[in-house]
Amino acid sequence: MDTIKRRSWAEPFKIKSVEPLRMTTREEREITIREAGYNTFLLKSKDVYIDLLTDSGTNAMSDYQWAGMMLGDEAYAGSENYYNLERMVKEYYGYKYLVPTHQGRGAENLISHILIKPGQYVPGNMYFTTTRLHQELSGGTFVDVIIDEAHDAQAEHPFKGNVDLNKFEALIKRVGAEKIAYITIGATVNMAGGQPISMENLRSVYQLASKNNIKVVFDATRAMENAFFIKIRERGYEKKTIKEILLEMCSYSDAATMSGKKDLLVNIGGFLAMNDDDVFEEARNMVVVYEGLHTYGGLAGRDMEAMARGIEEACQFNHLQARIGQVEYVGNRLIELGVPIVRPIGGHAIFLDAKKFYPQLEQLKFPAQTLAAELYLDSGIRAMERGIVSAGRSKETGDHYFPKLELVRLTFPRRVYTQAHCDVTVESVYEVWKNRATVKGLKMIYEPKYLRFFQARFEKL
Ligand SMILES: *Cc1c(COP(=O)(O)O)cnc(C)c1O
Repeated sequence: MDTIKRRSWAEPFKIKSVEPLRMTTREEREITIREAGYNTFLLKSKDVYIDLLTDSGTNAMSDYQWAGMMLGDEAYAGSENYYNLERMVKEYYGYKYLVPTHQGRGAENLISHILIKPGQYVPGNMYFTTTRLHQELSGGTFVDVIIDEAHDAQAEHPFKGNVDLNKFEALIKRVGAEKIAYITIGATVNMAGGQPISMENLRSVYQLASKNNIKVVFDATRAMENAFFIKIRERGYEKKTIKEILLEMCSYSDAATMSGKKDLLVNIGGFLAMNDDDVFEEARNMVVVYEGLHTYGGLAGRDMEAMARGIEEACQFNHLQARIGQVEYVGNRLIELGVPIVRPIGGHAIFLDAKKFYPQLEQLKFPAQTLAAELYLDSGIRAMERGIVSAGRSKETGDHYFPKLELVRLTFPRRVYTQAHCDVTVESVYEVWKNRATVKGLKMIYEPKYLRFFQARFEKL
């Protein structure tokens, strides 16, 4: 799907400061990836050429944000920067109350503790790793209620992040509304390939939830990127600003968790925001235990200032067009070359379909983990596995989850790489695609208990 019909776009910024990249030989990379247990998370960043592991905290800040860093008010309590952040969150997201946290999972920890009673269910439009884990650690059980298309890498649907209202309603009927702690709604659903949710769907979910007295917790981490898709794909929103769309999206929820490390163009930071007085009261009490005082939540004053300033910049249409346009550029070139990727192209990343690369590998030979290692070997580009390793094991049975999708994510940091870096990336992926037939897969030799994808180790078969 072609979302951006236009002549060539260019980045709406120029470069003021540069960071040199180190290039390595294939022989060097054979050693570094073996030492990293064929897990790209365990590579040293100095051994990586183009780092597409994640867009989390890897953003380039603007001169305006860096200037804000010098205005950090490092008071323990009541820092000026906290009030700036609070004002921006109110203005752009519309929630009444703000509790800063060191990053997104800090907010997830608080809200899961506050709202989940052991034995309750937490539906959501596909799981996210840290979100689901916090829900489980609070005694909840995650239930996936995303539309079926989201689990099909080739289904062309403009809003593959949508909730299937029938699945949500069926869960309410099956377990009863009082057994549902809340529903989490993710924007530009990461694990589905960066796929957006429509405004119409957000509205309907909120209506159905409210009718049953179920709270909606919005994972707003990538909400601005989602707002961009609503503007260009959903009827009635063409003329609205990203800011107006974002405010309407947030209005269909009771609270939001936020990782500022994504949308908000900073390297660290997050927040929990909400409208409910009681939830705020509890969150403010609890943040002191896990993060820090409620006016800093684990962040330095300067980090809150950079995030406050990032909110304004991240909401600019030109920024989002260039950011999403870069991802789309890489995706379209790969499609032209016949490389199998998740369609339509998502907001923050290209997802390579590893099952299609390596039909010879059963899922327990870790096709996506293998593909990420092969890509690194070819060029020093670092990507991330999003397949069976990321999916982990069922907390009841201890068995692997076998996700339908076995993907490798090429994630683009915001404002960091140029179009030439994108071309190098396309060429390397194509090289790995051409050599796909000879690949034999991996064996897991070490498995950590939680979020195993971060630290698991493998050997070549
Ligand atoms: C990154 C992310 C989180 C967790 O945020 P952290 O800042 O990494 O703790 C939660 N939800 C989504 C959709 C994310 O992308």
